[in-house]
Formats: sequence, structure tokens, C-alpha cells
Amino acid sequence: MSATERAELPRFAGIEEVVERLKPAEPVYVLHPGRFQQAARRFLDLFPGDTLYAVKANPAPQVLDQVYGGGIRHFDTASLPEIELIKGRFPDAHCHFMAPVRQVGVARAAFERFGVTDFVVDCDFELDKLLAEIKTPAKARIFVRIATPLGGAMLELSSKFGATTEDAAALLKRVAASGAQPCLTFHVGSQCLSPFSYAQAVEMARRTATMAGVEIRALDMGGGFPAPYPGNDVPPHHWYFDTIKEALATFGPTHPPVLCEPGRALIAEGLSLIVQVVLRKGESLYLNDGVYGSFDELTLPGWTAHYAHKVFALDKKGRALEVTGENKPFRAYGPTCDTLDVLPRPLMLPEGIAAGDFIVFEDMAAYSVALRTAFNGFFPDTWAVVGN
Ligand SMILES: *Cc1c(COP(=O)(O)O)cnc(C)c1O
Repeated sequence: MSATERAELPRFAGIEEVVERLKPAEPVYVLHPGRFQQAARRFLDLFPGDTLYAVKANPAPQVLDQVYGGGIRHFDTASLPEIELIKGRFPDAHCHFMAPVRQVGVARAAFERFGVTDFVVDCDFELDKLLAEIKTPAKARIFVRIATPLGGAMLELSSKFGATTEDAAALLKRVAASGAQPCLTFHVGSQCLSPFSYAQAVEMARRTATMAGVEIRALDMGGGFPAPYPGNDVPPHHWYFDTIKEALATFGPTHPPVLCEPGRALIAEGLSLIVQVVLRKGESLYLNDGVYGSFDELTLPGWTAHYAHKVFALDKKGRALEVTGENKPFRAYGPTCDTLDVLPRPLMLPEGIAAGDFIVFEDMAAYSVALRTAFNGFFPDTWAVVGN
């Protein structure tokens, strides 16, 4: 299944060739296999435990194949459809159910039908529900999620989920008493620009376990590792791994087995997006993709990152040449009839940009494809591969 779908994707030597040969009037997602492999390698080589890919960041089969191809065999899945997607495509993959709130019956199905044994809770109600649904708790690792303070993340994730360290300690005791394996987890927030946030959270986890008097069987550090978007000062990757290792040393000579579940950092760099300028009206551009398509994340409150981009035009011989020149701010509208379909901030583009030109955006894989809609009939879904 995956092999044929992969084979069907058109392959090109470079982005220019995609533009020249397809002259795409529809947005095109361009996969870079080498970049996916490099991102996977970073985690597999430098993180001191299992790396799970958080499927919600991009569940497109074309992207999942790249993640799997990079050597990732563990997946953070938050629903039965995500588990079915992963197990159907990669029978040897391991799914971990790391969402703290589940609909009734879902944990039972995950446990019995798919052999999922990792679950997360952050309150008594969900723990009761979970324990009622899994027959043999001894097989399960139950991760209590602790809320972490606002740190260096561009998008915080601890106001919706996570218990205080006191409540987490009480839950941890209950998990241990149930016969399940007591574990802890946190998520420092997405696009976290401060490696120290992980150290702080590890310390909170250590304190929680001590308070509970429970020896934890695993510590899951969530996701949040950043992508190198312009507009953010992103520290080098190894600072995150070094900081995490240093924090783990406070557990003593041995620390519990650790996991992480990056979405963004495992994929962001692997995808470019080619968008065409449909119309230029003064300083306004009308593009064939917008916030209801691939650009939803730009609308997040407080989001300062943007996507690196270049402009290409076809010359008389049909060659794609980069358009350069002085950059000016352009308002960028998406293709739907909705007034809100406009990028929240202007795009800096060469002043000579014209209808028919192509804008290539980089580092586009995370929370773009996953959040696209078919609003007004526009659903970007054309794929290509560049390089090996
Ligand atoms: C969204 C999410 C992730 C992935 O977060 P990134 O910021 O993309 O790394 C991991 N774990 C959980 C529980 C999540 O909700």
C-alpha cells in the first residue's frame, strides 16, 4: 500500500524543476526525504530514550511514510482513527495514547484491539474511567500529566491539560495502588524556544515522584521541540538534548526510561509548499492557498514565526528563475471568498512580483496539512518529491 502510493508521487531534481514541469495552478506539497531522515536521526541519535512521532502534527500518509522511513517506530496517537491509520500502514509500529481525555470506550478498544498499553491521565475521573476499561492494569503504563509553568514556548499547552504537582502526586499513588505502572509526563508547549523549560519540567517530575513516594517507571517529555522558523531565535538542537541529559542526572546514577513525542521538530523541515500568485492588485496579492488551507498556524495569538520563502517566475524559455530585488510588504489573501482569509501579517516579497509567479515556502510540514479545510472548495492535496 505505502510502497505504491510512494511510487506514484512524481519525483524531481529540485524545486525549480517542479515549477517548470508542473507550472502548478494548485498548491503543491514538496517532500524532501533527506530532511525527514536528518530530523529523525537527530532524535534517534541524541535523545536518551524512545522517540514517538505525534501524529496530529501531520497525519498525511505521504508524511507518515517519510517519518517511518527515517526510522521512527513509535507514534503518539490521540484517537482511534489515528491508531487505525498507523497500525494499518505500519503493522510493526507501536502506538501510545498520550491524550489525557478520552471518549468512553476508546481506551478499551485501543487496549484490546490494538494492544496499546500507554495512556495519560490528569484527573481522578479519567483515571477511574481508564481503570474500568483496561482489564489487566499490570500491563499498562499510566502517565500522569503535570502542568508546567509558562516558559519558552510560543504556544502553551498546560492551561487545558495537566495537574499541579500535588494533585499529580496523589494520582501517581492511585496509579501505583491500581497495579498499573506509574509514570509521569508533561508538555512544555509547542515551538519551545527555551531548552531550560525541559529541565524545569524534569525537576517538577522528580519532585512529584518524591512527594508521592513512588518510583516512576517512565518519564515522557512530550513534544515542543522547535522548528527553525525565521522570526524565532531557535537554539541549536543539541542544547535541548544536553539540557535534558543534565536534568536527568539529578535522578541519581540511573534515571527512569524516558520518551519524547515531538511532532513539529520531526517533520517541519521536510516539506516545502509551492503557491501561485493568482492576481496582484497594487500591494495586495491573491494566492491559491491561505489560512483555511496551509497557513492556519500563522493566525495563532502571539505567533511571531513565519516561513522562509523565495519567489520564482518562468522566463520565455519556460525556465524557473528566482525573482529578486528590493522587498516590500504585500498583503496576502487566500483563495476563498471569506474576508478573514488573509495572512495576518504582510509578506515581504520582491517589488516586481506578478500574477503567475510562484512563492516557495519552506519548513511547512507542521500543523499546515493537518489543519487544512475544504472551505469553499479549496483543498490543497497535490504532492511531489524532490531528491532522495
Ligand atoms: C501536540 C502534542 C505533541 C506534539 O507537539 P509538538 O509541539 O508538535 O512537538 C506531543 N504530545 C502531545 C500530548 C501533544 O498534544
